[in-house]
Amino acid sequence: MLICDTCGKTGDAESMMRCSGCKRIFHKNVKCVGVREIKLKEEKRCPMCGQKTKKLNERICPFCGEHLWSLHIDCGGIIT
Ligand SMILES: [Zn+2]
Ligand SMILES: [Zn+2]
Ligand SMILES: [Zn+2]
Repeated sequence: MLICDTCGKTGDAESMMRCSGCKRIFHKNVKCVGVREIKLKEEKRCPMCGQKTKKLNERICPFCGEHLWSLHIDCGGIIT
């Protein structure tokens, strides 16, 4: 069992991730990590829905600001 550094609740390895910057652990949901919208210079193709996008939603560490993962806003597909 892991303990989330944001909400203090427990979770399993599947539902959580560790920040590569500060090594804290968070739930993989918006409430426990930071959110930032980013605009790309070049289009990226989403691996989930195949659409090209220039706008991504980035999830960042709420403590140190390290990048955790990016996702396609329209479908929720993960683009790293
Ligand atoms: Zn949490
Ligand atoms: Zn961090
Ligand atoms: Zn998509």
